[in-house]
Amino acid sequence: MTQKPRPAPVGRFLTTNVGAGDVFTREDLTAEQKLFGGTAAEFMRREVLPNAGRLYARDWPFTRELLRKAGELDLLRLEIPEAYGGLGLDKASAAYVFEQIGINPSFGGSIGAHTGIGTMPLLCFGNAAQKAKYLSRLASGELIGAYALTEPGSGSDALAAKTTAVRDGDHYVLNGRKMWITNGGFADLFTIFAKVDGSQFTGFLVERSMGVVSGPDEHKLGLDGSSTTELILDDVRVPADNVLGAVGGGHKVAFNTLNLGRVKLGPRNLACAKFALGNAARYARERKQFGKSIGEFGMIKHKLAEMSLRIFVGEAMVYRTLGEVDHALSAVDPADVAAVLAAIEPFAVECSLNKVASSEILAYVVDEALQVYGGNGYSR
Ligand SMILES: Cc1cc2nc3c(=O)[nH]c(=O)nc-3n(C[C@H](O)[C@H](O)[C@H](O)COP(=O)(O)OP(=O)(O)OC[C@H]3O[C@@H](n4cnc5c(N)ncnc54)[C@H](O)[C@@H]3O)c2cc1C
Repeated sequence: MTQKPRPAPVGRFLTTNVGAGDVFTREDLTAEQKLFGGTAAEFMRREVLPNAGRLYARDWPFTRELLRKAGELDLLRLEIPEAYGGLGLDKASAAYVFEQIGINPSFGGSIGAHTGIGTMPLLCFGNAAQKAKYLSRLASGELIGAYALTEPGSGSDALAAKTTAVRDGDHYVLNGRKMWITNGGFADLFTIFAKVDGSQFTGFLVERSMGVVSGPDEHKLGLDGSSTTELILDDVRVPADNVLGAVGGGHKVAFNTLNLGRVKLGPRNLACAKFALGNAARYARERKQFGKSIGEFGMIKHKLAEMSLRIFVGEAMVYRTLGEVDHALSAVDPADVAAVLAAIEPFAVECSLNKVASSEILAYVVDEALQVYGGNGYSR
């Protein structure tokens, strides 16, 4: 009897000896890998940062205009394989791009949701006709994508969703509510999860024009220049051709693409942390109390040192993981999505560690930066 191959073990950093030369660092990025990062940095400097006030005023047509411009610069097609009209960049290059974009976290959230959870489910699970219909329009920014899994009664426990899909001829009729949907206020194409016959969890590609209605934007504690809304689905008629993957296979669509996003969140978080550290260090030099720069006081030096230390650790973690993931992906055909997902799966632990740790580092650094600014830190 032939034995089934055993899946590669997760968390290999605990069990596998890795040579020093095998560990990727940010400094290993080549000029070619940094190329699109340069384009993104210039785009942020010229188009986004000078107009950031319009994002926080929730001028969503402006956000769309920015996304369209990003599309013209190829920034929305970075990770789409060349076989589908994309650039097929490796994860480290793409992460470096998002590091540049991350200095405005709200815009980073909008573009990240569009290119990540808004596009990847179609890319990974769409059939040829679905990709032909939607993918190039998402890659150009003509269509904006969003991903609707969470509901008022189901967050972490996503499979407890209550949204239903009932077959009616060659359509499904969707009813329910979705919560916290990034790009919810202006997206055109949603990957929505609903239960067929109340039990078979299934993904659907749903155009706004099929009847999706957005609630008002949430008033959030942060990322308030990005749109997060409820979606109201009242008898939304979706062609059966728009089922994404198999009926009853929605859990695969919902969860399999998350590692791909998590692995790149780290550099985005750390870019924000570096931005905060840079500002805090500058302020510490300029602000004088007791006749000295506050940066000369031990406690402020300690804060800046701790912030630097955590950023250093975070950056080492995330680029090491990106290098390992790219190494694994280099052995598979990028157009073979099942092989791509299987190659990244053994890194699920590292992807999650990076997401959690880099988020905690960012929260720590921002809080410490706020303290360095004293009363100014608390003022908008
Ligand atoms: C800014 C923002 C953007 C978002 N964008 C999207 C989007 O685009 N699409 C989308 O579908 N969703 C989106 N979400 C929703 C997000 O995915 C959910 O908030 C998340 O899944 C958590 O669900 P919840 O908020 O219902 O919290 P809950 O699941 O109710 O959790 C509440 C607390 O309980 C803890 N908890 C839950 N279960 C357990 C357990 N088994 N053991 C121990 N602790 C537990 C949680 O860790 C948390 O601390 C977004 C949320 C935010 C804030």
